[in-house]
Amino acid sequence: MLNGLNPAQHQAVTSSSKRICVLAGAGTGKTKTLTSRIAYLNDEHRIGTSGMLALTFTRLAGLEMKERIASLVGEQKAKEMFCNTFHAFCVTALQRYGNRLGLEPNFTIYDPEDQESVVEQVIKDLKVKAKVADVFLDINCFIRGEEKFKSEATRLAATEYKYRLKRNNAISLDELLLRTLILFKQEAVAEYYRESYPYVFVDEFQDTDEIQWEIIQLFRPKNLLVVGDDFQAIYGWRGARVENILEVAEDPAYEVVKLEQNYRSTLPIVDASNSLIKHNTKQTEKVLVTDRPGDPVVTLLDFVNEEQEAAYIADHVMQHRRAGGKFSDVAVLARTNRQLSLVKDKLREGAIPALIISKDSDPLAKPDVQKLLKYIAYMINPSDERSLRSCINFPERRITDLQMSGAEVDAGFGKSLREAMEDQAPKCRNFFNQIDATTRNGDNNSFWSDDAWLVIQGCAFDLGLKDFYTDHSLQNRYEDVRAGLTFAQRWCNQQHAAGERADIQTFMKWIHIRDLQDYYQRDVDAIQLFTIHGSKGLEFDTVIMVGMNQGTFPSKRSMKTDPEEERRLAYVGVTRAKRHLILTRPQTTFGYGKMTEHEPSQYIRELGLAVQV
Ligand code: ATP
Ligand code: MG
Repeated sequence: MLNGLNPAQHQAVTSSSKRICVLAGAGTGKTKTLTSRIAYLNDEHRIGTSGMLALTFTRLAGLEMKERIASLVGEQKAKEMFCNTFHAFCVTALQRYGNRLGLEPNFTIYDPEDQESVVEQVIKDLKVKAKVADVFLDINCFIRGEEKFKSEATRLAATEYKYRLKRNNAISLDELLLRTLILFKQEAVAEYYRESYPYVFVDEFQDTDEIQWEIIQLFRPKNLLVVGDDFQAIYGWRGARVENILEVAEDPAYEVVKLEQNYRSTLPIVDASNSLIKHNTKQTEKVLVTDRPGDPVVTLLDFVNEEQEAAYIADHVMQHRRAGGKFSDVAVLARTNRQLSLVKDKLREGAIPALIISKDSDPLAKPDVQKLLKYIAYMINPSDERSLRSCINFPERRITDLQMSGAEVDAGFGKSLREAMEDQAPKCRNFFNQIDATTRNGDNNSFWSDDAWLVIQGCAFDLGLKDFYTDHSLQNRYEDVRAGLTFAQRWCNQQHAAGERADIQTFMKWIHIRDLQDYYQRDVDAIQLFTIHGSKGLEFDTVIMVGMNQGTFPSKRSMKTDPEEERRLAYVGVTRAKRHLILTRPQTTFGYGKMTEHEPSQYIRELGLAVQV
């Protein structure tokens, strides 16, 4: 496993320092170094993988890491490791210790939409005059422990909201990290983790935020390796703090290792990325070199409009295909999802398999799948009345509005919503009895142990979805549910391959913390279309970056807010390419009923490229 490492990588892999920071440019093998160190410690120093915790930026990156480790030290040992995102780690910590904060292990995670509907309900029930947005401001004050409230009405509503989340055994997505931090402030919790995981590894450290870093500091692992690249910090807009890595690199407690050899890309690509990033002023000095000559030079192509641009991509890909290449060798990157859907449509027209890696085409977001999942959420956590409300009348047949509002009134007077529903609409009893029968505890209960997709399928059956769709000729909605099931099945397979749990509880928590790369299908031979944010950490033989226009990329907004972060985004995109990097731009675009002409992106000049028409 040390074979083929360069001296700097070798140093980081075998170092006996307790604190190591690898700060290096794209494609220099930071992730490889991290993985090799895990294997090395296990193999040479007999350190058990079950005592190692690797925090990756995406679940996919965690799964890939496990695969690599399996190939180095064996499957069983890889399975014993924790390799997952910070959020997934927080979920497990809250499952273990959340009861210290009044949270039972079967808690539900609330998305912003769930939160909003709770707030709406609160405003209605309390009959207060308050706007949802204002109540949210007060809720955030609570979360941050501040006492600055908009008005008495909003304070009342926010207090009631907090109480209801607790009563529902629910936690909002944006509190996952914060509550974990609160737990780690209890020495017993920090100590448990310190003992359980003496070895901690963090990839993509430049994109950790303040709370994540604070958790690691309270954790105080015996041995810590962080790796990252300040050039690739692209999540400042959502609270990531690039200073974390810069401060660590200055901290004498850390052995800092710099890697300079890029193994991913050919020289023209490395040169272009170096030339681009030099235009940023706030950053560390870093060298990036490669000895891989590149025959094909980075090209820039100009097209009349987006249709022509997309048609070129389709052509190019077909040529690549005819020459024996695979569709999946090629990735299309863009600043926004909107640009990608145009390319996708064009590719599909030409019968080229193409997938957008985006939450926009999320099969789990479809209304029927959402309802089905709410039904399961309620089964897992029967205190969760918010989920019950959204699934009680699904599929639409059980209860009248009158019964529903009657039950809501009763539920306001000390009854649980379930009791109130059973009284108001006796036919609901079947619904609840069925839930009880399915979830009743017992070692042989397959609800808790089967693969998530099987459980979801079983629940769809219990709800009589298929008959309902057939009776009402709702083929589309039936297809939606099937697509959701396929997605869940794929997730289960991925989890199994990495030796991770694939049960329904794990699935239901994951769906709230899923990230863009959860939509990436590595094993499918299709062109995959990413926003640059979603492509982080990945590499492709050919990268086509579309829409290289001033105002599109860099976006107008970013030029006012954070032009350097935007340039780092361009750097991330460019450095995903192994052999071919192609930049394209439409001279004109059409939107909001008018045509706009564009100038080429300033990045083209900064990359040191000339425009080819
Ligand atoms: P990023 O900044 O994009 O996350 P990275 O620094 O994590 O990149 P890796 O993904 O670990 O880089 O490595 C980039 C590529 O270079 C991978 O294909 C990896 O296998 C290869 N690589 C890394 N180190 C070596 C080496 N010493 N010899 C040969 N190939 C290497
Ligand atoms: Mg990496």
